[in-house]
Amino acid sequence: MSELAIDGGTPVRTGPPLPSAMSRAGRTIGAAEEEAVLRVLRSGMLSGVWGDEGPALAREFAELVGARYAVPCSSGTAAVHLAVAAVDPDPGDEIIVPPLSDMGTVAPVLAQNAVPVFADVDGVTGSLDPARVAELIGPRTRAIIVVHLFGKTAEISRLREMADAAGVMLIEDCAQAYLAEVPGTADDADHRNVVGTIGHVGCFSLQQHKHITTGDGGLVVTDDPDLASRMKRFADKGWPREDGERAYLNYALNYRMTELVSAVAREQLRKLPTVVSRRRAHADALTRLVSGLCQLTPPPDMGDHVYWYYPLVVEGLDEHGLSRYAAALTAEGVPAVSGYLARPLYAEPVLREQRTYGGSGFPIRGAAQYPDGLCPVAESLIHRRLVVLPCNENFTADDLDDIGSAVRKVHEALVGRSTG
Ligand SMILES: *Cc1c(COP(=O)(O)O)cnc(C)c1O
Repeated sequence: MSELAIDGGTPVRTGPPLPSAMSRAGRTIGAAEEEAVLRVLRSGMLSGVWGDEGPALAREFAELVGARYAVPCSSGTAAVHLAVAAVDPDPGDEIIVPPLSDMGTVAPVLAQNAVPVFADVDGVTGSLDPARVAELIGPRTRAIIVVHLFGKTAEISRLREMADAAGVMLIEDCAQAYLAEVPGTADDADHRNVVGTIGHVGCFSLQQHKHITTGDGGLVVTDDPDLASRMKRFADKGWPREDGERAYLNYALNYRMTELVSAVAREQLRKLPTVVSRRRAHADALTRLVSGLCQLTPPPDMGDHVYWYYPLVVEGLDEHGLSRYAAALTAEGVPAVSGYLARPLYAEPVLREQRTYGGSGFPIRGAAQYPDGLCPVAESLIHRRLVVLPCNENFTADDLDDIGSAVRKVHEALVGRSTG
């Protein structure tokens, strides 16, 4: 067996770095986006309130995902904030969230003075486990926020049934899951159900690392005209501009998207179906390359995964072993992250030390709420089982071979040889 690069051996990959979201080679920004920016600059109208690009983006995105309405906004976090504000919780009401996500999923709950209640996740996908959610729905629950982690659809139909039975809103955080198709609905070409349209509101991000990007930006979709206009108003200081009147109907902020961002987003949107299908093909190749390794579970895929990243679940390692596994892959030339997060969201200082509103601790009722062990499955993924590999639409066949070879080399050295 050849020596690991982390121990001084020759790395699997000696060529240029893999294309990534941090480099031009791993993005789809080109002449169309340049032209879009110039088109807006030359028009003299840079604001989404009066320009044409924002409304066009809203129409095109709604059509692409099959929703009635879309509202552009300034980030994925803003998108979740629009959704949570539309729930209109009373202070102290509860919103159920997953512990394995970006803080953008949870910060808007605090902003609306609601309490984030963390439900544990599925042991392979890392997305909300409906059985754990069921245990937490109570008289103060107002909404559930589900994240389709890494681009794999969560158990969204089941969660929608539960939300309807409880009379609470279901918010889908689709920042990592553009165009992921909910299983069992793909055959009917006219009614492809993609994530964001099963819950009451779907939220998307255009941040640098997502499938498509404008640097920052966000979108929400819904079929409900009342939710749509309330979210639009929350992004615009509560101002109901469609009524032609200057009024501020409720507490709200300015989360508007500019015309420059909208114009770039429209061009990125045209590329999204290709980005998704190429990532799916690449992930399929990776799954074939790593199959047969013992104690390793590749991402399960029923046609419902769009591979924001390529997550592997590895058994048999301790915390140190998992870090070393990821570091060894990185040394072979395949940047890998152990656990995705350093700790579950509830263990972050903002929640654990209640760094929210002055010294009040509001809206979190006591630090005891977020102890270690709160979500043991999420903790096992973060500390002992999850390794996140890159996936990119611009990978070549050689790139995929390198990733497959690096995983086999590291896995056989640190976990064990293949079965069979
Ligand atoms: C990126 C991300 C967000 C936040 O989006 P921003 O545009 O960075 O504010 C929220 N939720 C998830 C799941 C994300 O991946």
